[in-house]
Amino acid sequence: MFLSVFDVFKIGIGPSSSHTMGPMSAANRFLALILSNEWPRPAGAQVASLKVSLHGSLAFTGIGHGTGRAVILGLMGEEPASVDPDRMDEIIAEVERTGRVTPPGHPPYQFQPKTDLIFDKKQPLPGHANGMSFSALDRDGRLLLKRIYYSIGGGFVVTDTELEAMRTPQKSSGDARVPYPFSTAKQMLEMARGSGLTIAQMKRANEETKISAAELNAGLDRIWDAMKSCIDRGLKVEGIMPGGLKVKRRAKAIHDKLNEEWRSNRLNPLLANDWLSVYAMAVNEENAGGGRVVTAPTNGAAGVIPATVRYYLHFHEDATPEDIRNFLLTAAAVGGIIKHNASISGAEVGCQGEVGSAAAMAAAGLAAVMGGSPEQIENAAEIALEHHLGMTCDPVAGLVQVPCIERNALGAVKAVTAASLAIKGDGTHFVPLDACIETMRQTGNDMSEKYKETSTGGLAVNVVEC
Ligand code: SF4
Repeated sequence: MFLSVFDVFKIGIGPSSSHTMGPMSAANRFLALILSNEWPRPAGAQVASLKVSLHGSLAFTGIGHGTGRAVILGLMGEEPASVDPDRMDEIIAEVERTGRVTPPGHPPYQFQPKTDLIFDKKQPLPGHANGMSFSALDRDGRLLLKRIYYSIGGGFVVTDTELEAMRTPQKSSGDARVPYPFSTAKQMLEMARGSGLTIAQMKRANEETKISAAELNAGLDRIWDAMKSCIDRGLKVEGIMPGGLKVKRRAKAIHDKLNEEWRSNRLNPLLANDWLSVYAMAVNEENAGGGRVVTAPTNGAAGVIPATVRYYLHFHEDATPEDIRNFLLTAAAVGGIIKHNASISGAEVGCQGEVGSAAAMAAAGLAAVMGGSPEQIENAAEIALEHHLGMTCDPVAGLVQVPCIERNALGAVKAVTAASLAIKGDGTHFVPLDACIETMRQTGNDMSEKYKETSTGGLAVNVVEC
């Protein structure tokens, strides 16, 4: 198994990696397929119009998560990493006004969002809770091409056949093309012992089979810059978040108060928690506002890792860029193991898979830069994940706001606590990380669909919307 650090950390837009970035990428994949010669068609057949239907969780919470908007943007050729958040409304308005999409390199296609984009809450697709069907038709409305895509969390998109293939391989088969092909925490620890390398060094060696050291460092620095800019923007902006819940942004006001306390040397026994929380909330408020964020490992959980890194930097002024790279590489190693053996998708296993995974990754990264051994790092990840087990996904009104924003703050606090506990031990502990990941997978399988990003249970039905 090889999952690049750049697959785990992807620069994109809010509010959701599975419901916004994934569908936008799926639309781009379908457009690329239309242009390719990889599908049979009658001689002279021309695509004239497109239709899209969204199923399962994408249908239930797609409006709150901006899924329809993401599909329209994707059909206009916009991609998550490069779309300009300030131009999105304008692009969507143009499609609604003209009833067609005009992706670069293609002829215009008829696409009227009101009728050609269906939120189908009745018929889930069989492969995954986040299913999408894209169809291309000729001018007489005859179907020429149809593809099913699934958005499987963290912005990853696969076809139904790719999904099938992913589920077929043996669980613990490694990837012989990289020097340290660990796919479980046990293998990771054995390889660390055998090689004498840290987890970050092994992950780096794996990455450097695909790209140069300079490219890897530049990419990691870009990821951190994007995370840092997201925090900085979130700490400056005030007002109400979009979507109709009228939830106020709070990060700026809290940050102003913390700065005042810091400057006046006022004693604050909650100092660490407050700084962690404000950084995480800044990111998730940006995400809720549709701003530029980094999946870590998803958008809904995007605040935990940046908050933990920023917190570390706040209290360690001597930290170097290499520390941040090691943090991200270690976190990505743990995230890859979780994704491979369970899930990072709230629609598949609930919020334990999103904020729980993010906390495990952040705890691992922090333990690494605090000098933890591979065993202590694995212990840190396990503690953080264990205490998110069973956590459901029940966003109010289908928006990634309540409970998501505060939940990231609490995830960061748990991550730091987990790293601290692990560093004070010797790495030996009762529950292995692999057992914890497997528990998360089984718990997710047993969880009612109501609690898997459908907004049909939990807080989503018990909080009165004003
Ligand atoms: S509750 Fe958790 S999993 Fe669900 S949308 Fe919010 S952050 Fe994502």
